[in-house]
Amino acid sequence: MTMPSDIYQHLILVDCDGGRGSIFDDLTLLKDLPNNCLLHLFWNNSDVAINEKLQRLKTNAQCHLHPSLLLNVKNSADAELIYFLGKSVIQYSSIIIVGEGDEIYREVVESVNKDFGKKKTIELVKIDDSKSCLLKLIEQMRKRNNENDYCEEKYRLVQGLPYAKCPLCTKAFKTIAARNAHLQAKSHKQKLVTNLMTDIKPEQKILQPNMSTKTTETKTKTLQCPHAPCSVKQKKFNKKGLKQHNKDVHSKLEMNFSNGSSLVPH
Ligand SMILES: [Zn+2]
Ligand SMILES: [Zn+2]
Repeated sequence: MTMPSDIYQHLILVDCDGGRGSIFDDLTLLKDLPNNCLLHLFWNNSDVAINEKLQRLKTNAQCHLHPSLLLNVKNSADAELIYFLGKSVIQYSSIIIVGEGDEIYREVVESVNKDFGKKKTIELVKIDDSKSCLLKLIEQMRKRNNENDYCEEKYRLVQGLPYAKCPLCTKAFKTIAARNAHLQAKSHKQKLVTNLMTDIKPEQKILQPNMSTKTTETKTKTLQCPHAPCSVKQKKFNKKGLKQHNKDVHSKLEMNFSNGSSLVPH
């Protein structure tokens, strides 16, 4: 079984019996699915027309099909849907069951609420109008994404699943934790600092000249002669003083050095 991911994800379970499969008549809507949702469709595998209609979704990586294993058994789609939810409930933060007013789903919703409370959102959606149903589901998921700070641009769809993108390279990760660990790697640490520095807001930029003057002043007080053989290395100069010191002492030494003479400490 797949381990729970730390990425906010929706699970949509559709009981397609009773004509509810018609919410997928317009397949063009599927391209608007948020990249953090998976649809699982359940139906009684006995009607050829429904089978053909729903099998068209097979090629969409975000849609998974569950025709019943038994033919013409009452409630087989419900049973499979509930069995599947039990297996995968832990992985998802938001769960929507699309079904008619079957008492059985109301019981499932209550059970999940009892176990997880506010950690998960689960709701039962009944179809008023099959044409607008999918659109409403998409809107609902987008709303929840906003409420839970899920930003689609930060993720990439990989085989139907949301992968957390690295903001600095082309890699993407199955969990946010793995992405963050990758950002801590040596190759990215330096880039992160640079990114932060170029990301200065305009009002901070205006302040910068003042800030840099201050820094230089502080530095000037603690300047030391950088020449290794200098005997006054411990002495601290201001900028002007160090320049003078270099001119007085080291320009001669360097000239001597370039002439091939040995360095003489002054
Ligand atoms: Zn990266
Ligand atoms: Zn010196």
